Amino acid sequence: MRLVLVGPPGAGKGTQAVQLAERLRVPHISTGDLFRANLSAMTPLGVEAKGYMDAGDLVPDTVTCGMVRARLSEPDAANGFILDGFPRTLPQADALDAMLDELGVALDAVVEFAVDDEVVVGRLLGRGRSDDTEDVIRNRQKVYRQETAPLLDHYRDKLVSVDAVGAVDEVAERLAGALSRV
Ligand code: ADP
Repeated sequence: MRLVLVGPPGAGKGTQAVQLAERLRVPHISTGDLFRANLSAMTPLGVEAKGYMDAGDLVPDTVTCGMVRARLSEPDAANGFILDGFPRTLPQADALDAMLDELGVALDAVVEFAVDDEVVVGRLLGRGRSDDTEDVIRNRQKVYRQETAPLLDHYRDKLVSVDAVGAVDEVAERLAGALSRV
């Protein structure tokens, strides 16, 4: 399966993606994780991304799209993948559409994790990541509403919406149920 997970920061995409990737035997490709790995390894890409991540702003599309393009062309992604945190802007969605066209494949579904902003601030503050301070979280939420939410319309034909409020197992069950109907 080729899936994209979309949802505001703290919606639980990463948690669900890890479990789902194991079950479907496809790689979990998280742009946030890729940036953080580049940052710990102090690669030029990581160093470039750092300022944006610290502020809760998006890393420029050219950097992000290049990183994803390279990752999607690795052999383990040939038979499927779960993209978590990408695309996050309409230009990124256009770039992804072009990459998939080139590879001769298509997305099976775009899953929206539906959750209210106020529910997730508490979750994120408990996570303890360095970009999880209240101001930076609020900025990531604003960026989500402005830049990412328009993707829901872009992908309306493939969109599957899952209520992401509740225990991890409950959400996993809803997600599995929704995907079984794809
Ligand atoms: P969250 O979903 O909680 O915001 P992520 O780990 O997905 O956390 O992203 C952390 C940061 O990484 C973002 O605030 C942004 O700076 C950067 N980032 C991740 N994905 C993208 C993307 N697709 N485009 C641009 N920047 C991204």
